[in-house]
Amino acid sequence: MVEIIVASANDGKVREFREMFSSLPVRLSSLRDRWQPVPEIEETGSTFYENAKIKADWVFENSSGIWALADDSGLVVDALDGAPGVYSARFAGENASSDDNNRKLLSLLSDIPGEQRKARFVCTLVLKTAPDRYISSEGTCEGEITFQKSGTAGFGYDPIFQPQGMQVTFAEIDSEKKNQISHRGKALNSLVRELHGFFGSGS
Ligand code: IMP
Repeated sequence: MVEIIVASANDGKVREFREMFSSLPVRLSSLRDRWQPVPEIEETGSTFYENAKIKADWVFENSSGIWALADDSGLVVDALDGAPGVYSARFAGENASSDDNNRKLLSLLSDIPGEQRKARFVCTLVLKTAPDRYISSEGTCEGEITFQKSGTAGFGYDPIFQPQGMQVTFAEIDSEKKNQISHRGKALNSLVRELHGFFGSGS
């Protein structure tokens, strides 16, 4: 078994990663399992990849070389030149709630017609396995920003994101269905496939 520390203190995320990695000879722990208080790793990168790499580097260095898995994700809106992007969590300010962020986005897009409301969720995963060895993957989910909030499931921008080909938002479908088409689900699937190759076909 190879130990991997997930660079996140979000229990839900770590649980999801654990489920996705269950077919691999790895054991996942979280920031919280390893450090108290949980370290806050500053995300100073300008891309999802840079931010994920910063977190993976921090964990790898501070654990003396245990494999480190980090993700970074966000919403990219075409009509806003890619915003909120890496600022998705703090779009309406440092301590903004999801509601604040959604309100700000809807207000910025209030004059933008349907066909110009295209957006995508992006998730980048970086697994650091050696000082200069990174395995990364990316997943995207295309869709558009709705004109109003709809649904109560999920988190973040889910109530105002309608995935391509669907008439409902991410907040109106269950998590299993969302994981099948989401940016995070796709990035995780692709990393798991790559790791099966890494560990050999028997794993
Ligand atoms: P992080 O990668 O967990 O730091 O997520 C960054 C931010 O992107 C979150 O706080 C959300 O605002 C947004 N985000 C990322 N993935 C999703 C998603 O699946 N649904 C809704 N919002 C998301």
